[in-house]
Amino acid sequence: MKSNVMKYISLILFCCTFLLHGCSSNYYAMDDFQSVTKIDSHVHIGADDGVFEEQAADDNFLLVTLNVDHGDSANLRRQFSLASLSAQKYPGRVFFGPAFLFDTTGWGKDEWSKKVISQLDKDISTPGVITVKIWKNIGMTLRDREGNFIMVDDQGIKPVIEFIKGKGLPITGHLGEPKNCWLPLNEMTVSSDSSYFAEHPQYHMFLHPEYPSYEDQIRARDNMLEANPGLTFIGCHLGSLEWNVDSLTDRLDKYPNMAVDMSARICHLQYQSSENRERVRDFCIKYQDRLLYGTDLGYSGSRDTEASRRYIHETWLDDWKYFVTDEEMTSDLFKEKFKGLKLPKDVIDKIYYENAVKWYQLSVN
Ligand SMILES: [Zn+2]
Repeated sequence: MKSNVMKYISLILFCCTFLLHGCSSNYYAMDDFQSVTKIDSHVHIGADDGVFEEQAADDNFLLVTLNVDHGDSANLRRQFSLASLSAQKYPGRVFFGPAFLFDTTGWGKDEWSKKVISQLDKDISTPGVITVKIWKNIGMTLRDREGNFIMVDDQGIKPVIEFIKGKGLPITGHLGEPKNCWLPLNEMTVSSDSSYFAEHPQYHMFLHPEYPSYEDQIRARDNMLEANPGLTFIGCHLGSLEWNVDSLTDRLDKYPNMAVDMSARICHLQYQSSENRERVRDFCIKYQDRLLYGTDLGYSGSRDTEASRRYIHETWLDDWKYFVTDEEMTSDLFKEKFKGLKLPKDVIDKIYYENAVKWYQLSVN
């Protein structure tokens, strides 16, 4: 009798353990951070000392480093050689996206696109190249001879887009700015924006109504996608639709070849979580195949490499906490509290790894 009771108790214990294990295995925990292979789809490696890459290896991250057209050829070539050096040193772990110099000399003539394409043709054959990056200078600063802003749907850029598409590469586009940029400082949702635009009034579009509007930026990008249905497009910074997941939903539904990275805009998801967590969580689950984890972390060398490594590590860890747990959290960037999204494991695997591999066609190790 006694042994039967023991057997019965053991069976119950076994079932409980199995159920508990079964349940908990649907979600990752903080402890899983290290063991899960992850990809940061948007970083800027600006040094050759290997510090960023070593931290990435320690935290089990692969990296996609993107170049930015700051409008200076020497700077752009330097970014290119650092990115290509890193991709060479860490094959299968570091990938990169060169940018092209948008020199307005000759703009409007065939020679302009021929020159850009000839440089790009060399650059994209470099090992580790997975995309071409285009930047917000298109739409925000570049002007033609008549003083009109050059937008991304301009016919003059078309041959370049056709070339990239023809090579089977995606375009990674940071176009426009956060919507906050067009709002008065006191209406901005996150303090990273309000402090940045307070310090840089020249970039604060609320003060410059003569510049293209937020809607103009989004419209030009949408026009470009409509004109190039076969183009794979990864919109940086939640496609500059960071302020509202519903508005992003509209674009993702309309453009099946568009995905977005979350870089530097996770705080906007957190801000929306503070208002309506379920809406953000449902969005991440519904569009689990279209979202790429990314931070926009940059590293250009440091005297205190330990501090840099700690900062990179803590940024990654904090984001992990937001996506995998349902803990209550706070941000330095706004005052409301919010709860982590606790996304299911398979959704995390896509956002943190599989989507980058698929959208960027990465040959991972
Ligand atoms: Zn960036």
